Amino acid sequence: MNYKNITIAGSGVLGYQVAFQTAFFGFKTVVYDINEDVLDKAKAKFDILNKEYIKDLNATPEQIDQTFKNLSYSSNLEDAVKDADLLIESVPENPDIKIDFYSKLAKVAPAKTIFATNSSTMLPSTFADSTGRPSQFLALHFANSIWKHNTAEIMGHPATSPEVFEDVVAFAKAIGMLALPLKKEQPGYIINSMLVPFFYSATDLLLKEVADPETIDKTWMKATGSPTGPFAMLDVVGITTLYNVVKMNAEQTKDPIKIKTVAYLKEHYIDKNKLGVSTGEGFYKY
Ligand code: NAD
Repeated sequence: MNYKNITIAGSGVLGYQVAFQTAFFGFKTVVYDINEDVLDKAKAKFDILNKEYIKDLNATPEQIDQTFKNLSYSSNLEDAVKDADLLIESVPENPDIKIDFYSKLAKVAPAKTIFATNSSTMLPSTFADSTGRPSQFLALHFANSIWKHNTAEIMGHPATSPEVFEDVVAFAKAIGMLALPLKKEQPGYIINSMLVPFFYSATDLLLKEVADPETIDKTWMKATGSPTGPFAMLDVVGITTLYNVVKMNAEQTKDPIKIKTVAYLKEHYIDKNKLGVSTGEGFYKY
């Protein structure tokens, strides 16, 4: 693996963390997003995030300084990707947005650039054609709070080149991740194959008015010894991602409780900008 220049597309809940982690471990990192306003928000988030690296990883002032020097920003896709050895895509969990993004990216990225999707629930084979370079495309999936929950699931699709796969495993290790290679495509990888049904069960209980979020969380925490319950976890993940995932499932399955959940999340959370920790309120206030 001789990657030097990395581009992160999408600087939302997960993308900005991937960008900071990549820059912290010495890679030249370009942050790409749809406009300058969003990029300004990412810069403001880095000013807060670096304190977590000092607290949790004992990062030195020199390391933080170098991390900021490694970061640059662009809202022009062609410019953002012009030197990239690897582009990590963290745009919203919506297939239309992702396919549109890859179609545009395919036209402007250099031939050498490897593309990796951070999609939580979609298979890389779904987008492989729109990338225009299926053998140089795979999934590299991170967890929230990447600097401490440092898992990286690496999942190819049938046409991913084995060399590309091994290079991305090596890159994941080079940015301080526990690299977790999957042997085959699996919707939700390892972690979300377990987490998504867990979140569905929790929101089903809420929608059926069996109990409120606090009671559901308390039950889970006390009974299992887990430090957080599903709704506190969802506030960290971001309610937008939950909304997108349930919406896709509702469209596919026509399950009445999922359809009701989509409407409920939209009315009570999305439309009120209660998107979780990132906006100061979700299922809980912060
Ligand atoms: P988000 O909505 O917080 O952020 C998405 C970002 O993409 C925003 O900054 C938005 O401006 C930007 N964007 C929108 N359209 C774009 C485009 N065409 N080109 C470039 N940028 C664009 O979403 P998120 O939670 O960060 O999720 C992003 C991806 O990461 C999803 O695929 C999600 O499944 C995955 N992921 C999320 C989590 C999590 O905990 N939130 C964990 C692992 C993986």
